[in-house]
Amino acid sequence: MKKDLYLDFDSTIVNSDKAICKIYNDTYKDYDGFVPADWTKHKSWAYTYICPLIHELEENSVQVIKDYYGRKEFFDNLEFYPDAKETIAHLTEKYKVIICTSAFPMNASKKVLWIEEHLPNVDEIIILIDKSGNGYGKSRVAMMEDDAIFIDDHPKNLYSTNASQKFLFKFKETDYNGSWDGPVVSNWKEIESLLLK
Ligand SMILES: [Mg+2]
Repeated sequence: MKKDLYLDFDSTIVNSDKAICKIYNDTYKDYDGFVPADWTKHKSWAYTYICPLIHELEENSVQVIKDYYGRKEFFDNLEFYPDAKETIAHLTEKYKVIICTSAFPMNASKKVLWIEEHLPNVDEIIILIDKSGNGYGKSRVAMMEDDAIFIDDHPKNLYSTNASQKFLFKFKETDYNGSWDGPVVSNWKEIESLLLK
């Protein structure tokens, strides 16, 4: 029987930060004090460092960022991290691949359709929508099947489940990914050699 492999979506499979920066740059490019947002410098969930004009000019900056995640442009510009698509295609041959992702009411259906279009071979999609925005991490999904594996870029999510093996996807340093002392993977080639060799 195939083992269950749970994969986070945003900032694990796809470069969500890059798509957010594109919307920010298109929106604010003509404003005073605009500096193009560079996703490689992203550090905080709220994009405080690289998208400062949202925080200076918008009344509800967190809501603006949530809205970005639901925009058509977000999904039009969404790119896989290098080798993610090919590796996931191979992983589906050996594992039951389950995408487990938090979403907002505005972006959940678009996210599912994007996954269906770009990753048609994944076995299951679990979408968690916590309308309060505070969230329980991914603790609603216990991941208690024998030898379940879970990969996510956020330590809070890893800590919240009971998967047998958990890996932090650490493409780069951020404000929120330092508090993890378990195993780390930093790119999809590494995941391929870890899970398919
Ligand atoms: Mg994530």
